[in-house]
Amino acid sequence: MAQSLTLAITKGRIIAEVLPMLARAGIFPDEDIATSRKLVFGTNRADLRLLVLRGSDVPTYVQFGAADLGIAGKDTLLEHNGADFYEPVDLGIARCRLMTAGLVGLAPRPGRLRVATKYVNVARRYYAEQGRQVDIIKLYGGMELAPVMGLADEIVDIVDTGNTLIAHGLEPRALIADISSRLIVHKGALKTKYALIQPLIDQFRQLAAG
Ligand code: AMP
Repeated sequence: MAQSLTLAITKGRIIAEVLPMLARAGIFPDEDIATSRKLVFGTNRADLRLLVLRGSDVPTYVQFGAADLGIAGKDTLLEHNGADFYEPVDLGIARCRLMTAGLVGLAPRPGRLRVATKYVNVARRYYAEQGRQVDIIKLYGGMELAPVMGLADEIVDIVDTGNTLIAHGLEPRALIADISSRLIVHKGALKTKYALIQPLIDQFRQLAAG
């Protein structure tokens, strides 16, 4: 049987920037992803289909080989801690920063900090590196509300323009990592489907470069 590839892409902002890249590579989904409720899409390439997933599910699918390749934000990859995939291309899209933030003018107090975030692994690692004792509170969204409501002293979140922080009376404090979307590849698939995957990696590398 002819081999085929599955590429898992993070929905939302990332896929909005990936689709024009795919178009430049001559790859088109067979339906409008923005308006469809489907999660799996064929393309004009008979050997390539697309999965549209929540960001944190992309590395999981690729780690277990349920998708051969994936496109996810570096924030998600840092949080996932995954093995079993390579990260061969920085696509340079959906750029933002992973930062700590707190209420404007309120210096982080000494002693144990309460930190609210959906990036619990990243936050735990970051504050440990800083030698800070923290209690991490896992949230699933709306992190910027936590300091306002007294749930946490700081948050760890994605910052782009900074407008969301400002709107909640927060300010960015420390930069944890510069973020962009990355192409990831299942290690086993790269071996068994090398002839299909390597040209795609090369193509993405060219697209990212210009
Ligand atoms: P901003 O107000 O421009 O700083 O954007 C803040 C919010 O937009 C963040 O809390 C994120 O939820 C979201 N956001 C901004 N940039 C990205 C990105 N590149 N990837 C995912 N989410 C983002």
